[in-house]
Order: sequence, then structure tokens, then C-alpha cells
Amino acid sequence: MNDEQLKTCRELAKKVRIHCLKMVHKGKSGHIGSMLSMADILPVLYTQILNTAPASPKKPDRDRFILSKGHGGAALLATLAELGFFPLSWLDEYYCDNGKLSGHISHHIPGVEFSTGSLGHGLPVACGMAMAAKQAGKKHRIFCLVSDGDLDEGSSWEAVMLAAQHHWDNLVMLVDYNRLQALGKSRDIIDLESLKEKLEIFNWAVREADGHDQNAIFEVLRDLPLCNGKPSAVIFHTVKGKGVSFMENNYKWHYGGLTDELLAKAIKEVEAAK
Ligand SMILES: [Mg+2]
Repeated sequence: MNDEQLKTCRELAKKVRIHCLKMVHKGKSGHIGSMLSMADILPVLYTQILNTAPASPKKPDRDRFILSKGHGGAALLATLAELGFFPLSWLDEYYCDNGKLSGHISHHIPGVEFSTGSLGHGLPVACGMAMAAKQAGKKHRIFCLVSDGDLDEGSSWEAVMLAAQHHWDNLVMLVDYNRLQALGKSRDIIDLESLKEKLEIFNWAVREADGHDQNAIFEVLRDLPLCNGKPSAVIFHTVKGKGVSFMENNYKWHYGGLTDELLAKAIKEVEAAK
């Protein structure tokens, strides 16, 4: 990325974090730690990698992005709103009674491909989209962002096997690998290590990158597929709650609300970040 593109990504990440904090504060709840964890990945994906168009969110040749960890969907909603898929004012109605935006993401919202939030649903659907594209001879790609918790689900591993079996190299799995999930450390719940070796054994092409270094995110996503004839996986090493000191690496902020005081403290930290 050039300096201008990097600046755009950094500013968008900052805006996404602040939107998420305000949305969770106003909605009185939400998966804030999960949102902040992926807040540096989505801006790079949407401004530099995906072939999408806010004015025509259903254009047939668009790249598809499925957020499997749809419980943290406010980060995606904030990204889409900032890019013009729908009005920013909708964010004020997140998680509110009769509001436009639900706590888990819905495909009724422009730019959202699939309703998710229950774990393990995203990758199987992404497989179906990859198969459909291959069968129709289409060139668009299918991206699916999964969490540690997603990878505890058998449905995700069925999808991993299916994609490799059929050589769907138009499929890209992005892992938000913060090593925490709702109730604690992943290694104490279902240990995914060594995730890279596991996926390679399953015949995926795999890379790892720092999920908060936007240049590194761009570098690894620039040249897809990672290997012709194989599905690609990028394991992004991330920090749950990234950007807010009292939330970072603390699974107790997987889900929760924010007092006025904590909101002010969190926004101050995000705004001050370099
Ligand atoms: Mg996690």
C-alpha cells in the first residue's frame, strides 16, 4: 500500500472502533471485544482487496465476504456504513428495539451477504458460494472471516475438508486468531494449535500475519490464491479488544455494555492511538 492508502485504512479502523464503542454503549450490549479484534482487517479488505461497490451491493461479479463471527458484526456494519453501503445514521439504531440493525448481522442490510452469529455457519456457506462460482465459470472470490469459536465447530472442519477435496482456490478463509473466546482461553476450551499445521495437513495453502499491521494484512491478501488449486487460509494473529487497554486480552469483554465513563475512556484511548 502507498502512504495514502495506508492512511485511509488507519483512519477507517479508528472510525470503526469508535462506532463500535458507541453502538455497544447505546445498544447497552454487544460483542465488543470481538469487534475490536477485527477492526484493522476489515478496512484493508474493503478498501484494497474486495471487488465490491457500495452503490450496487448485489452486482453479480462482486467478491463475496461472509463474516462467520456475526456476533461481532457491528464492526462490519460500521465499515459498510463508512463506505456508503447504507446511511451512517443507521448505526444509531444498532441493537435497539425496532432498530434497523440487529445484534447479529442480517443479510437484509446492504452489503451483508449472509446472516450469521451462530458459530460454524459461515465457512460451509462460503463453500457453497465457491462451488457455485466455479461451476458457473465466474472469477469472483469468496472470503470468510472466522473466529476461534467458529473453529471449534465440526461444520467448519467439514467445510475445510470439502474445499480442499474440490480444489476451490477461489475460497479464502481469514482467521481472527485472538486465542480467546466467550468463556476463556481457546487452549483451555478446545486447543486449536497448531492451527497452521492442521490446515496444511488438510491441504490448504496457509500464511500467518499480524492482524493489526495493516501493511502486513495487505501484503498477504494481495496475491491470492496463495497456491493455485488449493483454498487459501490466512491466520491473523490478533488481540481481542484491541485498542482499548482495559479490554485487551480480557475475555470478560467478549460481550458486555459500557458505562458513560468507560465509553469516554475507551474513545479517548482509540483517538490517541498512533
Ligand atoms: Mg476469539
